[in-house]
Amino acid sequence: MGVRTVLDLLRHYPYRYEDLRSATTVAQLREARASGGEVNLMGVVRQVKHVRLRGRVRAKTTAIVDDGSGTITAIWFGRPYLGSALKPGQRIFMRGRAEVTLAGVQLLVARHRVVPEDEPYSGELVPIYPLTAGLSNYSVQKMVARALAGATADKRASALLDPLPAPIAARRSFADALWSLRAIHQPASLEDADKARARLVFEEFFLLALAAALRRAAREGEASPDFSKAASQAALMEFHMQLRSLLPFQLTGAQGRAIDEIVADFAKPSPMNRLLQGDVGSGKTAVAAAAVLFAVRAGHQAAFMAPTEILAAQQFNSLTKLLSPAGVRVAMLVGALRRATRDDILDQLRRGEIDAVVGTHALLTEDVEFERLGLVVIDEQHRFGVMQRAALRAKAGRVTPHTLVMTATPIPRTLAQTVYADLDISVIDEMPPGRKPPKTFVREVGSKDKIFAFIREQVQQGRQAYVVCPAIDESERAMHTAVAQAEELRANAFKGLRVGLLHGKIGGPDKEKIMRMFADGFLQILIATTVVEVGVDVPNATVMLVFDAQTFGLAQLHQLRGRVGRGAAASYCILVASDESEESARLHILEKTNDGFAIAEEDARIRGRGDLLGTRQHGSMKFRLADPVTDFSEFLEAKKDADALIARDPGLQRREHARLAAFLAAQDTDIALRASS
Ligand code: ADP
Ligand code: MG
Repeated sequence: MGVRTVLDLLRHYPYRYEDLRSATTVAQLREARASGGEVNLMGVVRQVKHVRLRGRVRAKTTAIVDDGSGTITAIWFGRPYLGSALKPGQRIFMRGRAEVTLAGVQLLVARHRVVPEDEPYSGELVPIYPLTAGLSNYSVQKMVARALAGATADKRASALLDPLPAPIAARRSFADALWSLRAIHQPASLEDADKARARLVFEEFFLLALAAALRRAAREGEASPDFSKAASQAALMEFHMQLRSLLPFQLTGAQGRAIDEIVADFAKPSPMNRLLQGDVGSGKTAVAAAAVLFAVRAGHQAAFMAPTEILAAQQFNSLTKLLSPAGVRVAMLVGALRRATRDDILDQLRRGEIDAVVGTHALLTEDVEFERLGLVVIDEQHRFGVMQRAALRAKAGRVTPHTLVMTATPIPRTLAQTVYADLDISVIDEMPPGRKPPKTFVREVGSKDKIFAFIREQVQQGRQAYVVCPAIDESERAMHTAVAQAEELRANAFKGLRVGLLHGKIGGPDKEKIMRMFADGFLQILIATTVVEVGVDVPNATVMLVFDAQTFGLAQLHQLRGRVGRGAAASYCILVASDESEESARLHILEKTNDGFAIAEEDARIRGRGDLLGTRQHGSMKFRLADPVTDFSEFLEAKKDADALIARDPGLQRREHARLAAFLAAQDTDIALRASS
């Protein structure tokens, strides 16, 4: 779980507390005849009964629980493995809805936890930790208690736990560092836990902001490729005129602004490090092409990296079409090239006879060398690791190339500022004119036949369709799986049509082949998991059908929807909800708006702390305690202090900052590393 040191352990924070202080008793329940309300109860299991049921609920488990004042019947539904996990004699804590009936008191359990016999529990707040297979909450509690005792006993140790410079902690009147750690793990009251959290959240943001400020300062000290040749007043005018003559359309205002921001970066002495965010179809390629054109006019080469061969091929085609009339020599480098072709391209790159190369990971191998690499563009940047991005940039020799990373994943503004704190951000928040956004419908499983008929109709008109399932084969959460649907639909609803199947277990080359068959129009229907999510452009596809839509995040559905509506024809996104849960209800948001940022904010708000859209979708950030959305004002405060500190001591070299520097170095640098691109 990323816990390697005692410090890591102390920063393995609980994500909630079980409030045993508010536990009620069976006797009290009986007396109050209180039905319907949520209550906490703690007792010893006397008897367990488990029955399997037909249908969706599958199992019912009942247990007689004795809390000393009386017994209660606890009930669980749909927990097939609970029967063997619960044992007579166990002490359990339960939260659920109580029903007082003539037959006795029942508790419909929403949540429960088996409490170890010797848990240091004394009717207080029990910290509940993130766990992993084989690790119990109790063992974390015990280890943390030992670490806290050790830190308390050793004055030097407790000093090492405090990253905040004394003046900052004092000015913000934060609680003591060790006190805060104790209070977050073993709070005497929720007020103490909150007070501790305030400090620890600040610490987390402060270190993040400090790492970003340090990287930024370091980057500003690096030499960038010299683009001055293309940056004179006259050359700039020429650039804009040339760009206008090359593009088959007029830039949107947002594209124009992004290009201006990039060009302004090029004129600075330090290397650009910019994130270009724009919804699918917003026209990021044209912006990237403008950057490439500028770099080439300045006498440099550009490297453009995309996560898959199909995407690389698409970008290669676009760049060639846009830029070759201006004499820009564009090449493509992917894994599947013939040896001789590849060697030829490598030679030309080395000699500077190729101006721009578009490729996949194949660009990263050691024998790929440039004569004068000045610009690196990375599409769908979250698909690459830090090391890969760094490896490409290292090919510019002594200078640090200008870097433009692009993403179609709408990241809430707040999140972008925290996670990408050392990137400058350009946003394309405007779609090219005339684009018809897909019409979105939320439907129940019952209307499947109608939907299939509609898809057949579209296919007969020459269009194509995606059918997305949440899982490949077996799955707990999905009613529809890709493999089963492919079999079923090929045999019935889509009989006689050319139906492809694509999912994560299909190997790389085959996956590309299937995707290409769809892109080329041979396959009429593509049944897939979310592997179709990113970047693929098939303008002829007009239907996106998503099964079990309620199991996806809103932002992810929006991404999927972006696969259609890329051509001139009307397009449709049909979200099939398989139950009447809250998750299904929120799908209607997608019927109402097409604004990716609004959807991302909504998604982050719904899912709340600890399960941010970011963590899953980018797989790239890990906040321990802080929530970049709800704690955003704290982030700004922490950033203010971090920036001020770096302004005074850019290298963190002063003696009073030695501990802070050590802290940064020793600290799990996951966030820092991954956020830097
Ligand atoms: P994405 O941001 O998803 O990478 P693309 O760059 O692939 O989007 O652009 C999507 C489509 O929109 C392309 O076919 C492109 O030619 C077109 N396009 C881009 N900018 C404009 C514009 N300003 N006006 C009209 N069409 C545009
Ligand atoms: Mg794109």
